[in-house]
Amino acid sequence: MSMTYSGGCACGAVRYETASAPIFQNHCQCRDCQHASGTGHASYLTFPDRSFVTISGKVITWTTIADSGHEKTHAFCPVCGSPVYLTLAVMPDVLAVHAASLDDPGRFQPEAVTYAGRGLPWDTLDPSLQTFETVPPR
Ligand SMILES: [Zn+2]
Ligand SMILES: [Zn+2]
Repeated sequence: MSMTYSGGCACGAVRYETASAPIFQNHCQCRDCQHASGTGHASYLTFPDRSFVTISGKVITWTTIADSGHEKTHAFCPVCGSPVYLTLAVMPDVLAVHAASLDDPGRFQPEAVTYAGRGLPWDTLDPSLQTFETVPPR
């Protein structure tokens, strides 16, 4: 199997590819991810260095103050509206892609749940995952 992770939005106008390996794979139940995903959580693979992620196609970004108090910028496809990736002001090098944007979403291997304290009773996740009330301590 290729080590390359590739994916994009639902309509194919935005594409990305990286040969780097994710450093973190999580479900996030923060209020912002609930709003942006339209359901109880969003799921991400976080890559350590955005300069190693090739992105093609035009995205539109919007920035919000995350539950952490730091700026978080969402990138989505202006054609189909799919959320594709996000970046964080506090960790400017990293780039997190939405798990279901992968060409092979089966490669997502969640290891943790962030902002579990915001989880909704109807959004039950795998109880064997490590959970954090907010984010992992750094
Ligand atoms: Zn699209
Ligand atoms: Zn979140």
